[in-house]
Amino acid sequence: MTATQTETHCPYCSLQCGMRLAGRRTPEVSAWEEFPVNRGALCRKGWAAAGLYGGRERLTSPLVRDRETGEWSAVSWDDALDRVAAGIRAAQVAGGSDGVAVFGGGGLTNEKAYSLGKFARVALGTSQIDYNGRWCMSSAASAGIRAFGLDRGLPFPLADVEETDVLVLVGSNLVETMPPAARHLDRLRERGGKVVVIDPRRTPTADRADLHLQPVPGTDLALALGVLHLLVAAGAVDASYLAERTTGWEDVRDSVASWWPERVERVTGIDAHEVRALAEMLGAKSRVMVLTARGAEQHSTGTDTVLAWINVALARGMVGRRGAGYGCLTGQGNGQGGREHGQKADQLPGYRRIDDPAARAHVAGVWGVDPDALPGPGRSAYELLDALGTPDGPSALLVLGSNIVVSAPRATHVTSRLEALDLLVVCDVVMSETAALADVVLPVTQWAEETGTMTNLEGRVVLRQRAITPPSGVRTDLEVLAGLAERIGSQASFPTDPEEVFVELGRASAGGPADYSAITYDRIRDEQGVFWGGERLFAESFAHADGRARMHAVEHRGAAEQPCADYPIHLTTGRVLAQYQSGAQTRRVRSLPDDGPFVEMHPLLAGRLGVRQGDAVRVATRRGEMTAPAKVVPTIRPDTVFVPFHWVGANRLTNDALDPASRMPEFKVCAARLSPVAHA
Ligand code: SF4
Repeated sequence: MTATQTETHCPYCSLQCGMRLAGRRTPEVSAWEEFPVNRGALCRKGWAAAGLYGGRERLTSPLVRDRETGEWSAVSWDDALDRVAAGIRAAQVAGGSDGVAVFGGGGLTNEKAYSLGKFARVALGTSQIDYNGRWCMSSAASAGIRAFGLDRGLPFPLADVEETDVLVLVGSNLVETMPPAARHLDRLRERGGKVVVIDPRRTPTADRADLHLQPVPGTDLALALGVLHLLVAAGAVDASYLAERTTGWEDVRDSVASWWPERVERVTGIDAHEVRALAEMLGAKSRVMVLTARGAEQHSTGTDTVLAWINVALARGMVGRRGAGYGCLTGQGNGQGGREHGQKADQLPGYRRIDDPAARAHVAGVWGVDPDALPGPGRSAYELLDALGTPDGPSALLVLGSNIVVSAPRATHVTSRLEALDLLVVCDVVMSETAALADVVLPVTQWAEETGTMTNLEGRVVLRQRAITPPSGVRTDLEVLAGLAERIGSQASFPTDPEEVFVELGRASAGGPADYSAITYDRIRDEQGVFWGGERLFAESFAHADGRARMHAVEHRGAAEQPCADYPIHLTTGRVLAQYQSGAQTRRVRSLPDDGPFVEMHPLLAGRLGVRQGDAVRVATRRGEMTAPAKVVPTIRPDTVFVPFHWVGANRLTNDALDPASRMPEFKVCAARLSPVAHA
């Protein structure tokens, strides 16, 4: 490393690849070979990350919108914050403390997520806070807490993938979504290990698999039940592990008794012999690892689906063994840390429950407030947005780190809820689709312009260090929260120095499930990231009081919306390599291709519709419609279409049916109708 370089991490996904930056205004990206997660490798988004800077679209002055004319005017920071504070007070007069809501993001640093939760509970006194991570991995989080008593996406380093004998990826396109991680698959296969991919599309990840199963979207749970049925029948479960380390096995075993391969085939569309092949592979090998991602989790049955796959891993006696077990491949940059520090509706820092009296007393002590003054649990993300501007809902909303208009399910409806607000305030770096609806837009720093910690998909806390000078006119999110807290008369302190916030976060999290109290910025620098809870979890015991994992008997229910005569096709959504999340950042990086959305479909379906490659196709669901060019490929199920979600459109279609435990919307499947635009 040269004296002018700064070691930091990518602005995007949960791998949080290490990289070096040089330059004062526009950073130059170079490899950080020593960082263990990616060893210098980056995907094209990472290499192009410097393109986030220097664009003309960067906001550098607070803006207010005239509701009559729609005109934007630049105002001073004092003016902007005064207006926001006045709007907050008006909403509180009209609706009480819960008249104001806060919406955060899984890309915010730990320090911002923590400060946002504190700002909501202490400065605003509102229970109405949640964040877009609810739409990312909340089903896996909810299942992990139920099964293991603790949720850490991967309870082991990602490199452990190389040590397993069979890796089962359920609903993950890891090769495209986090390419530097693909080397682990290659090394696994070089040493003779097998890779199984379960995905309705044959993705680049599936291309590297030894076995690719293409289920009907929304039926992963049934496949897990069928696999466990066959493992039981073959005597391939670990009886002593089940007796010593788990509870609930008998109920689980009985619940899979009727899941013969032929029944699995009827539900999932996967040939019975392929179901048997998977079970034989899992039963024969000594180390089995199951990793789920959004394909399995973003369902109204997401929690149960993950529990069903956890049951498979537990029944084989794998969880807690090195090179084996269960994990969730988190998606957003701070998908892990973002769910640990209090921006969730039901949670206080340290991954503590907000309805736990001991947790309330501890955190209130750190914050210097009366525990009884802290609000209770609020609405989950979609339910919160659905309530905006209604007689019982908040009339003011502050948004940090989220582009709701693109990323929310049933997005047209959610947009109408945002438009019904008396006050919408958005902190962002550019005029995102959500900022464009705001009354006040506050321009903030991003990524290389500021310091803060992120917790990657392995539970490794890493430090993003400020490398370049922000443009004049912008402030950090921490400064925005401090400025607002002061204006609305909060007595609590809101530090603006990230390291000071991190120290306070450590005290607030001390003794909780995600305890950061022993982690410091210096340790993170010296150790190239620090795992909270240790590198590997569950070797000796699980986090439930009795030390055992809890197995849960779960039932296949299927997707909330099934194809019918009017909407005969399954629609699923996902990502493409060059874009990230709502695209608010990556769509503005000129060196990344932005070809817009497409409708991926099988030639058989295209032939039935009379659609050729590139023809405009209208996709309609019960909630909305969009038009995009057809991408005709033989790699997707003929009964399913795929639309990427990085642009306005896909989420106008998606279903807002919620998982009862995690409150995850069913992004990954709904029923759709297709028509060629010329013939519509
Ligand atoms: Fe960034 Fe993720 Fe790509 Fe790594 S894999 S460079 S963290 S987007």
